[in-house]
Amino acid sequence: MSSKWLSLEEALTQALNAASAVSDIEQVSIFDANNRILAQDIVANVDVPPWDNSAMDGYAVNTEAMEETGSTKLELQGVITAGMRADTPLQKGKAFKIMTGAPVPDNANAVVMVENTSECDGQIIINKSPLPHENIRKKANDIACGDTLVQKGTRMHAEHLMLLSSQGKDTVEVFRKLRVGVVATGSELASPGSTRADTQIYESNRVGICSILQNENVELIDFGIVEDDEASLRKLFIDASDRVDVMVSSGGVSVGDADYVKDIIAELGAIDFWKIAVKPGKPFALGKIHNTLFCGLPGNPVSSFVTAKLLVVPIIKKMQGQSEYHAPLSVNATIMAPLKRRAGRRDFQRATMVKNARGEWEVTPFKSQSSGVMTSITAANCLMIVPEDVSELNIGDTVQVMPLHA
Ligand code: AMP
Ligand code: MG
Repeated sequence: MSSKWLSLEEALTQALNAASAVSDIEQVSIFDANNRILAQDIVANVDVPPWDNSAMDGYAVNTEAMEETGSTKLELQGVITAGMRADTPLQKGKAFKIMTGAPVPDNANAVVMVENTSECDGQIIINKSPLPHENIRKKANDIACGDTLVQKGTRMHAEHLMLLSSQGKDTVEVFRKLRVGVVATGSELASPGSTRADTQIYESNRVGICSILQNENVELIDFGIVEDDEASLRKLFIDASDRVDVMVSSGGVSVGDADYVKDIIAELGAIDFWKIAVKPGKPFALGKIHNTLFCGLPGNPVSSFVTAKLLVVPIIKKMQGQSEYHAPLSVNATIMAPLKRRAGRRDFQRATMVKNARGEWEVTPFKSQSSGVMTSITAANCLMIVPEDVSELNIGDTVQVMPLHA
């Protein structure tokens, strides 16, 4: 029965093929570039460090001169702190006091750390002679002009932006933010903060999807709640296809009498696929109207949460211009409760994982796996993956689990 539904991998491949990356570029301050996608390779034009400098607070010496004279008693020639430079070369029989990061003076070839020296009558006594080049950070040893530092398509974080800053760059070219619309469909839905009619429930999916997508740093456009009514949905989707790159809806993609979402997408554009062999989340639909990609998530809160993480997030990353994307981290765990189910779909069961005394993960799935039980995702700290063909698991079996928050 499940063979007509796409596997998660097939669905992802099709979705990623249908998703095209934005190409518009904008320049932003490096202070605003965290979690943005780099639009061109960054190539170094400054050597780091720009000159040989001291890796320690200590004394700059010449090991050859010390060997020649056989003396470990040196006269102080001067002091070099970070931000200054010695104006004369080091002389034989002498040492410069030098601070971490300060340029090594000419003629010096090593730095003795201060802990290996003592001072007596104005002379510096070297208690442990350094090896040539010891404690000297060579010019360009970190970054040399011409090196590619960060590649186009990288999602930038502190570690990338620090490199840019070390190159003297205060701005960076990034892809424009992806515009993502979010809507909850359902005539039974009331907005939080509003008065609820007694035939209504407060809706929960919009804020869930928005929170998941905020982590991806997109520009979110909230289309609110729309009733299960063909004219309203048609108007919504036409509006969305004008305004956003991706539209994420929840509800109305199943087989109920009022489930119009995919029919209207098909009428205005095209449906790429509908239904995936995933539990929860089977009725997920993907389509396009003009250049806007539509992700139709099921209305059950747990299903919308799981499909947002498994499918929408990778689609968003690709469309943002991110060049490499890794599937969510999963680890091996030992299952601590037996499980029986009908095989066919890949199951993402809500579960708790804990480390045992041997440092191994143990996982216990919740008893209730209904996609309507929202408290199951709040109480869970992971999704336990049951492969398509598995109908039974026993205590002690190994399964894969995906932590919800790494
Ligand atoms: P649907 O996918 O529209 O058939 O909805 C499936 C179930 O999820 C129904 O019980 C809906 O009332 C519920 N549901 C749909 N959308 C939401 C939402 N945004 N928040 C909470 N529950 C919802
Ligand atoms: Mg509905």
